[in-house]
Amino acid sequence: DVRVRFCPSPTGDPHVGLVRTALFNWAFARHHGGTLVLRIEDTDAARDSEDSYRALLDSLRWLGLDWDEGPEVGGPHAPYRQSERMDVYADVAARLIAAGHAYHCYCTTEELTARREAARAEGRPSGYDGACRTLSEEQAAAYRAEGREPIVRFRMPDTEIVFDDLVRGELTFSPENVTDYGIVRANGAPLYTLVNPVDDALMGITHVLRGEDLLSSTPRQIALYRALAEIGVGGGGVPAFGHLPYVMGEGNKKLSKRDPQSSLNRYREAGFLPEGLLNYLALLGWSLAEDRDVFGLDELVAAFDIGAVNANPARFDLKKCEAINATHIRERLTVEQFVEACQPWLTAPHAPWSPERFDPEAFAALAPLAQTRVTVLSDITANVDFLFLPEPAIDEASWAKAMKPGADAVLGSIRKGLAEVDSWTAEPLKEAVLAAGEAHGLKLGKAQAPLRVSVTGRTVGLPLFESLEVLGRERTLARVDAALD
Ligand code: GLU
Repeated sequence: DVRVRFCPSPTGDPHVGLVRTALFNWAFARHHGGTLVLRIEDTDAARDSEDSYRALLDSLRWLGLDWDEGPEVGGPHAPYRQSERMDVYADVAARLIAAGHAYHCYCTTEELTARREAARAEGRPSGYDGACRTLSEEQAAAYRAEGREPIVRFRMPDTEIVFDDLVRGELTFSPENVTDYGIVRANGAPLYTLVNPVDDALMGITHVLRGEDLLSSTPRQIALYRALAEIGVGGGGVPAFGHLPYVMGEGNKKLSKRDPQSSLNRYREAGFLPEGLLNYLALLGWSLAEDRDVFGLDELVAAFDIGAVNANPARFDLKKCEAINATHIRERLTVEQFVEACQPWLTAPHAPWSPERFDPEAFAALAPLAQTRVTVLSDITANVDFLFLPEPAIDEASWAKAMKPGADAVLGSIRKGLAEVDSWTAEPLKEAVLAAGEAHGLKLGKAQAPLRVSVTGRTVGLPLFESLEVLGRERTLARVDAALD
């Protein structure tokens, strides 16, 4: 049975790299009918926060990435927050020491730094040199008498570690490059290096899919899994590993957490659809088919193959992300779903009009036209605000552009034509403007610019005559009069 985990540390705001990792684990689990475990790696009290924890769960819910075991849903391996599992780690650390797989190390930071620098200067490998590997009881006692407090260090085997990465193929790490490493701090706090593989072992994780930045910890963890199997912690297997490619941002630098483009909240607030964003993130290292950039989560699940993930760095392309989102809005939502999805942007705090001015019927009448034009849902506000604001929000630059000398005369003729229209619907309105324009030797496009800006405040927007139809005769003419005034 496939069991994968997504195990974020609750520090800061969720970012897109994290979401990509969650998505690939989710898709892998769903594809194989397996189990996705959500585990919260919150053993670093100084960096983890309850706010981040809640934001993380909320983000996953918003994205629609559900988990089968973990916080809020429970499961046979609860608790799933590492901060609640400290006794487990203390027990495992003690057993590793008792079995000789780990030992107390009394080296001070200064000593370690000095020896590392000396090794570097001589061109030797600069990892831990094993000074405390074989301390006698007397030496240890002498260190303790000096007041030194030991960390716990894992004893790496003196053999190569080889594994078959699901994404990158066979990888080999030689012992001089992977030296003994700390698993418990001097104050007794267990480190990521311990708690992460211990929980993977106890929770029966079969596949570890995570970012390439963690690749260097994998040989250490594999050695630790083997030691855990020997002392009977967990089911005994070493999981398979797949390291997902780096995501590069601007200037071909790794997309960092601090990069505004990487903040998940930003996409949520801009009104990306979860499906649109996840579709794009899936393309960071994977593809459904040669010429299929747009797909649904069901198609992703059906086709997902970790072996097909590309090991090369993926480039984060905001333009493409937006284009894919726009296609989701346009092609994968019904009008009803689109109207529903827009709701948060049609009320405070997003909408600039007061709530009693909002008219759902007027909105519904223009929604099909807006649906094909917005990139993100927040674009909706500017497209329909002319309907719900008492006066159009005039964009000064657009106004200046459309109201060149002579525009008044054209607009005056248009005013006359519009006033004479019998049936206030798009087609006759267009005929009237066309005729008024022709009298001034203007094509429709030029003629309608001053009309559009007087009525909507902008030079671009939804199809004009449908907009006027919904706005109604009275308000349209009043706005034209105000512009001519
Ligand atoms: N808590 C770790 C992180 O967020 C998890 C790494 C892993 O997947 O093993 O970096």
